[in-house]
Parts: sequence; structure tokens; C-alpha cells
Amino acid sequence: MLIVKAGGGPGINWDGLAADLVEARGREETVLIHGGNAVRDALAARLGVPVRRVVSPSGVASVVTDKDALDVFLMAYPGLASTGIVAGLRRRGLDAVGLSGVDGGLWRAKAKREIPVREGDKTKLLRGNRTGRVEAVEARLLQVLLRAGYLPVLCAPALDEDGLIVNADNDTAAAATAAALGAETMVFLFEAPGFLSDPDDPGSRVAEIPAAEIESRLPSARGGMARKLIAVSRALARGVRAVYFGDGRAARPLRDALAGRGTVFR
Ligand code: ADP
Repeated sequence: MLIVKAGGGPGINWDGLAADLVEARGREETVLIHGGNAVRDALAARLGVPVRRVVSPSGVASVVTDKDALDVFLMAYPGLASTGIVAGLRRRGLDAVGLSGVDGGLWRAKAKREIPVREGDKTKLLRGNRTGRVEAVEARLLQVLLRAGYLPVLCAPALDEDGLIVNADNDTAAAATAAALGAETMVFLFEAPGFLSDPDDPGSRVAEIPAAEIESRLPSARGGMARKLIAVSRALARGVRAVYFGDGRAARPLRDALAGRGTVFR
């Protein structure tokens, strides 16, 4: 089984990815998980709701999710982004079904109502946060869809312990989903040629990273990349055999990534 996580940047080549998914789907059961940053930012700007970005004490970047931000998130991810992606995949002949982590109780998260954030050289506690980390996956729902020949297309939000809607990181949720389904392979596509030893130098791609060396790569992971590396580490620890990073902007993004043209973790 193959789990593909496509990033939420504006440059992802969805046409190429759709063509690759048709191929992949012919070989093995496939689940697609996607982001939606670019759609969210554009919608927030249209609605006049500012997007507030924060950084954790360990340097991991995220976006603050208060009530207004959660509303925008819901309109952007399961709304505009997922519906558009599912329609595009269906035009290519893929039997795509869009689900958010709320549908069928698919993703259950541990709420993080307070998060420590770095402000200058101080650490502050941010309250009223509506995010969580996906820790359990309703695999049965996905198995039913996969067995019936559908391509599940998943994105946040998730439900927390109290059944409340929370924003959740899609990379972490993808790793939890791969583990729950016993998937052998995961692919992360985003807007870079793979993992770069210098994030400013596209020529510094690292072709292979053994699981034991992932932690030592954290200092060269900027922004959302740190969380992606942690998700990779978790996926490998929970039974995924190989994780591939690839350039989502390529003509055939998934095919190239699986051919080792990005970064392979095992
Ligand atoms: P996505 O929504 O596409 O998954 P993220 O921002 O979470 O986006 O992660 C991908 C981005 O991380 C890349 O597009 C790149 O700009 C950035 N990045 C930071 N550090 C690195 C690195 N060491 N190697 C590659 N990309 C990196």
C-alpha cells in the first residue's frame, strides 16, 4: 500500500500527480493526503482574516488556530482545496472520495489547547488554540473504501477527545494513517527537489538518509520541514519500509520520487 502526501504550496503539479496516481492505483492500493496552505492564505486575504504564524521553542513553525482561523481553515481545506482536488482526480478517471479527519471519526487527535511559542528571546504560552495531534486512525473506514476500489483523499481537520474540531498537521496525520493501514511506502511531495542539506541551495539534495540519521538533519530543516522529518521518523519506527521525498513541481512528481530522484529514508 502507498500513502502519498502532497503539499499545500501553489506550485504542486496536480495534473502530473493525477497521471502518476492513475499508474500507482493500477499497481497497489493508494491513499492521498493533501495540504492547503496556499488556498487558505488566499481565502484568508479575501475574507480579511489575518493568518498569524508562530514558532515553537524548538523552532517548528505553525499557524495560530483561533475561532476565526478555524472557520477559514474549514472553508479552505475540506472546502475549496479537497473538493477541487477530488474533482480534478475524477476528471482523470480516478474514483476519488474526499474525507476530512472528521468524517467517520477518521482522525482522532490529542488536543493542544495551549502551545508554547517563541517571541524574541522569550517563550510564551498561547491559549485558546484549536489544534491537535492525530494519534488514532479509523483504519476500517479506509479499508472499506479501498476494497471497493475508491481512492481516499484526506485532509485535516480532526476530532479531539471531546469530539471538537481541531486543526491538525497533515504530515503527522499521514504518518499515523500509514502506520494504521500497515502501508509499506510513503511519499511526501512538496516544492523542493528533496531534502536539502542547505535549504537555500536547491543543489544540496541529499539522496539517502538512514532512519538513525534523521535527528541529526533537524538543524537544516526550516519551517514546516522539521515536522515533516519527525513524521518520517515516526512512520519508519511504526513499520513503514521506505519514505520518499520528491519535487511536487516535476512533470511526473510521484513517479520521479519513487525512482529515487528526491530523498529516500529507510
Ligand atoms: P508542504 O505544505 O508543501 O508540505 P512545508 O512548508 O511543510 O510544505 O514543507 C516543505 C517546504 O519546506 C519546502 O517547500 C521548503 O521550502 C522548506 N524547507 C525547509 N527546510 C528544507 C530542507 N532542508 N530541505 C528541503 N526543503 C526545506
